[in-house]
Amino acid sequence: MTAQWQERVSLKPFNTFGIDVKARYFTQAHNDDDVRAALANAAQRHVAVLVIGGGSNLLLTHDIDALVLHMASRGRRVLSEQGDRVVVEAEAGEPWHAFVQWSLEQGLSGLENLSLIPGTVGAAPMQNVGAYGVEIKDVFAGLTALDRQTGELRDFGLEECAFGYRDSLFKREPGRWLILRVRFALDRTLRAHLDYGPVRQRLSEQGIEQPTAQAISDAICSIRREKLPDPLELGNAGSFFKNPVVSAALTEQIRARYPSVVAYPQANGQVKLAAGWLIEQAGWKGHREGDAGVHRLQSLVLVNYGQATGVQLHQLACKIQADILERFGVELEMEPNLY
Ligand code: FAD
Ligand code: NAP
Repeated sequence: MTAQWQERVSLKPFNTFGIDVKARYFTQAHNDDDVRAALANAAQRHVAVLVIGGGSNLLLTHDIDALVLHMASRGRRVLSEQGDRVVVEAEAGEPWHAFVQWSLEQGLSGLENLSLIPGTVGAAPMQNVGAYGVEIKDVFAGLTALDRQTGELRDFGLEECAFGYRDSLFKREPGRWLILRVRFALDRTLRAHLDYGPVRQRLSEQGIEQPTAQAISDAICSIRREKLPDPLELGNAGSFFKNPVVSAALTEQIRARYPSVVAYPQANGQVKLAAGWLIEQAGWKGHREGDAGVHRLQSLVLVNYGQATGVQLHQLACKIQADILERFGVELEMEPNLY
């Protein structure tokens, strides 16, 4: 088994920032048996394990003194169908966007707003991936994970996952749960979510007033391709900071000085501020320090122009955090997982 481990492997192709650090050991898991064998071998050799999917939410700041276990399991299936409601399941290593497209080809809706998010199905519950007003918790039907402490399999329902805004139990207990497969309850009848960002506008520009799920997906893909840098061309991990949720009082203080502040009131009385707006106001948009920079169109996205290290990107992120705190009194939380 250990023969399948490679040594001193560059992780550059395995993280979308394109950071060139090395894994002490590297292997891939194509099924549950591979996962169990890798974990058992690692335990026997007292080697730590870092599980990765598409590497699109990682900031690697040093060589990884561990076995990097790349989830490469594949498989997606319809589990049950009752009236309009169809439960589907996909293995952790399935590429997320291909899975979304497959669900649309089955005539199912529910995932269309989550089109073109990079990464894998297995990582999606980690931060309850979300975009354009939909999060996976909205269509979640369960997942199976391996408890790395006990070696037992466990099925999780919605409540147990404790999903929050870009957050979950799995993110809060790092390294404990290895997600093997995820289930979603999708619909044969579309319930469109169009009131977020420019989705409705894009559809009406195309003359579409009653969109299908596929049309919504296509519109979102086209918006995302225009706004976001393609990691294959410019290294990045999507939004680098979460949108901060702050008190109404702090929002009013900021609004007094910056009347155009972008703010979304939440059900609990707090207010979500657009982190990208704060960073842009502070003058960071397009800023570059060596090969680490803030994207010229999307100030929420940090980019690697080529040879930036994880430490340089992290230092830039810390400077931005400190500046936003000083200017606006707002703490920005980093979104990618730092190693
Ligand atoms: P990785 O980066 O490989 O891993 C992320 C974390 O999950 C790590 O801590 C890893 O250890 C853990 N992990 C991975 N797989 C498993 C598993 N099977 N079991 C247990 N732990 C695991 N995110 C959004 O929410 N919405 C967006 O709209 C969005 N847009 C993006 C756009 C771009 C251009 C990019 C680069 C990123 C974007 N992201 C977005 C962030 C990212 O794509 C998602 O968070 C995605 O789910 C990460 O998946 P991954 O497979 O790449 O995870
Ligand atoms: P945008 O449309 O420019 O909007 C800026 C921010 O305002 C978004 O981050 C979004 O918050 C919030 N927002 C917009 N309309 C809203 C509404 N009607 N109600 C409440 N909040 C609203 O955003 P964008 O940067 O182009 O991204 C579009 C979507 O894709 C967003 O949902 C964003 O989260 C998602 N995305 C995520 C990542 C990532 O890496 N996490 C990367 C790219 C895009 P939310 O972020 O809370 O949705």
